[in-house]
Amino acid sequence: MNSQQRQQIKNQIDTYIKALQHEISELEEKTKPIAPDCSIGRLTRQEMIQEQQVNEHALGESRIRINKLMYASKKVDKEEYGICVECEGDILFERLMLVPESSHCVSCKQELGL
Ligand SMILES: [Zn+2]
Repeated sequence: MNSQQRQQIKNQIDTYIKALQHEISELEEKTKPIAPDCSIGRLTRQEMIQEQQVNEHALGESRIRINKLMYASKKVDKEEYGICVECEGDILFERLMLVPESSHCVSCKQELGL
C-alpha cells in the first residue's frame, strides 16, 4: 500500500465515523424510553416497542462498528495495517476502502468462516 492509498483510507474512515456518529445520535433519540401513555399516530404501543428494539439493535451494531473504525484509524499509519493477521498477506485496497477495520483478507475470512 502506498502513502496515497493510506491517505485515501484515512479519509474513508473519517467519512464512515462521521456518518455513524450521525446515525448513533439519531438512534439514541429513537431509543429513549417510551412514556406509558404515549402513542404516536397510527403506531400502537406494542409496535413502538418492537420498533424500539430494532433501533436498539441497530444502535448496538453502530457502536461496535464505530469502535472498530476508531481503532483502525489509530492503526492505519502503522506497518501492520492492511496485513492479514492470519496469512500475513496484503488485504486488498478495495476491501479496506469498504471495510477499513478488516483484519483478515477475503480468502482467510471465508476459510475461517468469519
Ligand atoms: Zn489472509
